[in-house]
Amino acid sequence: MKRQNIRKLFLISAMLLFPITIYYLSPYLIIQGALEGVINGSFIVFAVMLVASIFFGRLFCAYLCPAGGIQECITLVTDKKPKQGWKNNIKYVIWTVWIAGVVVSFLNRSKEISVDFFYMTDHGISIANIYGYIIYYGIILLILMPALVGGKRAFCHYICWMAPFMVIGNKLGRLLHIKQIRLTADKGKCTNCHGCDKACPMSLKVNDKVQAERMEDAECILCGACIGICPKKAIRYQIK
Ligand code: SF4
Ligand code: SF4
Ligand code: SF4
Repeated sequence: MKRQNIRKLFLISAMLLFPITIYYLSPYLIIQGALEGVINGSFIVFAVMLVASIFFGRLFCAYLCPAGGIQECITLVTDKKPKQGWKNNIKYVIWTVWIAGVVVSFLNRSKEISVDFFYMTDHGISIANIYGYIIYYGIILLILMPALVGGKRAFCHYICWMAPFMVIGNKLGRLLHIKQIRLTADKGKCTNCHGCDKACPMSLKVNDKVQAERMEDAECILCGACIGICPKKAIRYQIK
């Protein structure tokens, strides 16, 4: 099976599991847990995400993120491309304010620090009551609307509170010269067909990157769509 089909299967599975996993990806529950001194499931998942991205970049976004899957479904309705630029920095502002909130909440906690991975879930399942469904569909709307209005994976570009963990982890890995999975390009093979630009789910100007032979981009999720589409095999994964 082609890599992109496998990737989409992973994303569909992640979407189907979202009612179970949503409380483990929650920016709100970390703060609620922190006020009670609880290191909860979301805290642990985001910490693992940060560490994993040192080696694997944003592969989570390409293969495992339910919100990524939901947005890729929207490409059936619109193939609009979100504008790149200053708007991409909004997510870092959201992230900074949120992280400050988590720190302040821990500093003002009412109890001693404890660890509870299944915090606020019944038997580890995130949605077990009607309020859970209201939260669930609210979050689905929050993910869907930017993608509908702004275009392909606009929520990832502008809003996502998880992306900065992976961008920071990835940059840290580069700074420390740790071996990472990354893209490399050979511009000598490229025929400027722009197939990679069209295939990129993050709407990146991949062809320009190939011409510059600099594939590094904070918004690249390493999905491999550009690799799969390139008739000249000008782009490839490398661990270095
Ligand atoms: S940027 Fe955020 S929403 Fe988008 S795929 Fe990555 S983790 Fe998911
Ligand atoms: S540049 Fe290639 S690997 Fe990166 S997001 Fe775009 S298509 Fe995926
Ligand atoms: S798909 Fe390959 S040949 Fe076509 S522009 Fe991209 S890198 Fe060049």
